Amino acid sequence: MRRDDARADRRPTARPGHVGPLMAGMLTLLAIYAAGLLLGDPETFDPLMDGWLSILTELAGVGLCVSAAVRTRFAKPQVVLGGAAVTAYTAGDAYYAASLAGEDALAYASFADVAYLAFYPLMLGALGVVVVRKLRSMLWPLLLESVVGALGAASIMALILAPLLTAEAAAGTTFEVIIAVVYPLLDLLLITAIGGILASRGLDVGPRWPVLIGGVLAFSAADVAYALGMQDYAVGSIIDIGWVAGVIAIAVWVDGAADTGRAALHQRRGVPELAAPVVSTAAALAVLVVGSQARIPLLAVLFAASTLALAVVPLVFRNRMLVVLSRTDELTGLPNRRALLTDVPVRLAGGSTGALFLLDLDHFKHVNDALGHDVGDALLVQVGRRFAAQLRPDDLLARLGGDEFAVFLEGVTEAEAVAAALRLETELAEPVLVGSASLEVSASIGIALTPEHGTDLGPLMRKADIAMFRAKSGRSGHHVYDVTDDDDGELRLRTVQELRTALAGNEFELHYQPKVSLSDDRVVGVEALLRWNHPTRGRLSPDAFLPLAEEAGLMPALSGLVLERAIRRAARWRAEGLDVIVAVNLSGSCILPCLPHQILTLLGQHDVPPSGIMLEITEDVLMSTPAGTASILERFRAEGIQISIDDFGTGYSSLAYLRDLLVDELKLDRSFVVAMQEDQRAVGLVGSIIDLAHSLGLRVVAEGVCDDRTQEELRALGCDLAQGFHVSEPLPAAEVSAWIGARGARAART
Ligand code: C2E
Ligand code: CA
Ligand code: CA
Repeated sequence: MRRDDARADRRPTARPGHVGPLMAGMLTLLAIYAAGLLLGDPETFDPLMDGWLSILTELAGVGLCVSAAVRTRFAKPQVVLGGAAVTAYTAGDAYYAASLAGEDALAYASFADVAYLAFYPLMLGALGVVVVRKLRSMLWPLLLESVVGALGAASIMALILAPLLTAEAAAGTTFEVIIAVVYPLLDLLLITAIGGILASRGLDVGPRWPVLIGGVLAFSAADVAYALGMQDYAVGSIIDIGWVAGVIAIAVWVDGAADTGRAALHQRRGVPELAAPVVSTAAALAVLVVGSQARIPLLAVLFAASTLALAVVPLVFRNRMLVVLSRTDELTGLPNRRALLTDVPVRLAGGSTGALFLLDLDHFKHVNDALGHDVGDALLVQVGRRFAAQLRPDDLLARLGGDEFAVFLEGVTEAEAVAAALRLETELAEPVLVGSASLEVSASIGIALTPEHGTDLGPLMRKADIAMFRAKSGRSGHHVYDVTDDDDGELRLRTVQELRTALAGNEFELHYQPKVSLSDDRVVGVEALLRWNHPTRGRLSPDAFLPLAEEAGLMPALSGLVLERAIRRAARWRAEGLDVIVAVNLSGSCILPCLPHQILTLLGQHDVPPSGIMLEITEDVLMSTPAGTASILERFRAEGIQISIDDFGTGYSSLAYLRDLLVDELKLDRSFVVAMQEDQRAVGLVGSIIDLAHSLGLRVVAEGVCDDRTQEELRALGCDLAQGFHVSEPLPAAEVSAWIGARGARAART
């Protein structure tokens, strides 16, 4: 969505179903007029009822159109053209009524017919705008389909109008008869145009299309009835209602088209594609069959024959279109991966030099998870447009899937490639508006050059991918592939692949490190720590894979796994009578609005009370994350789940800030505790932190306690809990209860 569109969406507009005073007045007039026609005497012309009231009703329709045009500031061509069509028709009717001069019908063609005829190109223009704006590439097949549809319908219409068209009648054809026959044919053109639009995916005539169709049908019924019964027609006959109702229906549609907004874009229509050509081909065949048995107007035969001749053409086009579609990304309309994989090798084989970019949006998963897929999709569309605007027509920009894009820039040097990458980054620096949300996006761009880094697409893609990884981890925006990236890069790339498989399989395990109370030596809780039993590299500690998982956007999935395991384990210990709080570490990227629900559901499933678990969040996450995080944490505390500040002291929060933090526990970082061994000042510092935390009602845990002396000093300083190798290393789940039991027995002995 463009920016101004986004703004337009927020402008208060009448809802499509909304009936304003103007519309209400118009519909009332129409009802009175219809009742008058039905109840009145069709033979005599009543100037008030049949003349003035019909004109007044139509004028109300004109008023509705004018108000719609003003409301959209004359910026929507379909509203302006549709309104002009309604106005032209009304002018024709007014002129007709004024020229009657006592007669009950005009026997000759007049200015009124000029106005009536002007109605058609205006209406077709209004509908054409919809087509031309949306689908330039599919315009020709669509037009052809409409022509085929119109011809097929015209052949049927020629059959219906046979009395007027057969050779005998044609001998005495007057100009007036020709005009009378032209109207139903033009109506047909309108109907097929609307049908064609409704049948094409992605086109939208506006929210009130059923009203439009109803109106045009009423119109053509009146036109057909008129053409067949011309001689006996008098103003005030029942068929007049068809014209007035038709004009009013079109006015109602114009009014609705003014408010076509986002909602209408998502409407799905039931009219199947190909319906128009198939129906009209069948109709044409039927006309020819009838023609072989009975005498029918030559015109009907001609229409039928040309329908069949032309019907083949759209089918051929359609095949070409299918080829185009298979190479097009449905969401953004850009070339897709298939297009890249077929086009670039051709260019490379032809000796093209240049650069291949792989682009990946940073934190796109966040947007998708937090704001929903619709917002994510709209963001991708806009990003695609912005990229395209910065590239030359010859550059190939493709969306590979998800938030990944690729660009092939032909004939550029390294410096030009870097300049192009910078342009793309700058283009993204402006926030993207999606609906009412303003999103900050950035991308990481990996660049591989040909022929320097390869002359085949495969190796180029791999190297651009490695470079993209570099760009992402270095937060540098873009990175040109370098041989030295490769060893490291390749290992990282492989690790990410393996992480994905590991997540699906059963390679992760949790170890639990006890937290013990320094006042009574009781085990208060355990902290769940993740281990990866890698099939070839052995047991890996989190530092070896968490940063990669973070970059690859796998953290939410990983922490889902951790939470599930930890809560299941907590339930088992409770069942065994072991009363320990299980703490789980959460990284910033996992603190999403859906997290509270996820955790509460898990707790419910395993019948663990909220007080049975605890969440550890590092200090810098607490400081640097957006306001939304605070409300998520508040939600946890309201539910009774405790929060602990992990690695306290490594961030840059002032102690005073602690007062505002909604936490229960403070975990003093290992570096302070280790420093206590040789530095008396560190002991003093730790002592004051403990005092301050206590004055704020926080419990203090010392991490990394690895000798007895430190533990005793911490006890003396009033520290609440200790954790570290001196107490216990992290233990496999199965060993925890034995360890706690042995410890209890030892305490009982002393
Ligand atoms: P952390 O939360 O600060 O966890 C404590 C780390 O210190 C653990 O390393 C633990 O084994 C280690 N440790 C405990 N006592 C001692 C000691 O006395 N001396 C020394 N030198 N080290 C000690 P581990 O298991 O390698 O975890 C490293 C970090 O990875 C954790 O730091 C935590 O931030 C993160 N992590 C671990 N599991 C998860 C998880 O499931 N999710 C998330 N988001 N992060 C996790
Ligand atoms: Ca921790
Ligand atoms: Ca820690």
